Amino acid sequence: MSKSLRLSEKWFRRGLWVVALVFAGFLTGLGSTIVGDLPRVEHPLQLDDFIDRAAALPLRETVAKAEESQKAAQAALEQAQLRLEAARQANRNARETFSNWLSTRHATQLPDQDSELISRTKALDALKAAEDDAQKKVLAQRQAALDARQAQARASEQLAELNRAASKKMQEEARRVELRVFLYRLALTLPLLLVAGWLFAKKRKSTYWPFVWGFIIFALFAFFVELVPYLPSYGGYVRYVVGIVLTVLVGRYAIVALNRYLARQKLAEQQPDQVRRDELSYDTALARLAKGVCPGCERPVDLKNTEIDFCPHCGIGLFDHCGKCDARKSAFSKFCHACGTPAQAQAQGG
Ligand SMILES: [Zn+2]
Ligand SMILES: [Zn+2]
Repeated sequence: MSKSLRLSEKWFRRGLWVVALVFAGFLTGLGSTIVGDLPRVEHPLQLDDFIDRAAALPLRETVAKAEESQKAAQAALEQAQLRLEAARQANRNARETFSNWLSTRHATQLPDQDSELISRTKALDALKAAEDDAQKKVLAQRQAALDARQAQARASEQLAELNRAASKKMQEEARRVELRVFLYRLALTLPLLLVAGWLFAKKRKSTYWPFVWGFIIFALFAFFVELVPYLPSYGGYVRYVVGIVLTVLVGRYAIVALNRYLARQKLAEQQPDQVRRDELSYDTALARLAKGVCPGCERPVDLKNTEIDFCPHCGIGLFDHCGKCDARKSAFSKFCHACGTPAQAQAQGG
């Protein structure tokens, strides 16, 4: 690309590379806006969409009701326990009073107190009965709370089972959605990549190369940055396989290009000196000379050694003598640096 040695041309080329990058940037912005809008094609998934509603709804109601009745039973139990405590206290106090009275009666032995003994015993029995009653109520509330708790646990267990099934279904659907979104993106970016490949093969050196390169950069960015993160992984298999395929393709291209270059070079080195020199562009030859390599075979040559007129590797003439003034000059220069005679004219004339 930058074989030119003219200063302005060099800077123009750099400017055009900036144009290519800016063009790629705007194309990428447009592309990612379009790609970013794509997932809206799919609505977000919710667990509720996958649960067996006919089975789940009554279970949810059962859980809510059981919770309610458990709360009510708990409150009633607390009340009943308090009442039982009160009944027990009353019973204990009455019994104490009675036993005091009884010991007094034993001491005094008054027979007219028999009727009072009977009535006091009856009152004690009533208190005992009240305590028993309170005890029964506490037990009943305990039973109710336990029933509610167990009903809730059963319903929750069944509900959890339904949720597990639903989340499995949702995961499968999510994988399908992921694949679908990936395919949308692939359908959009793969043609771009193919067009970019064609442009690279056919048009990368055309007059409008900045736009060609801008498009190629954009297509590469769209494919490897916008698409690859959405590649379904299937446990990493897809990523690695795609990576292997791409590496093989790029590697094959490089190997083929290298062999083609070597074959071309070998063929060129068999051609006569003048033909080879004519096929090399002037700027290419100068750029290679500036790097200290032979313009013909690109192997290193000691250009400062005035003894060397020909490349020792490929035999191409590096220096010759002006036909007019006989000054030693580069065989690739178009004019003699000493007298200004055109090299072409002296070749024809000599
Ligand atoms: Zn050479
Ligand atoms: Zn000359």
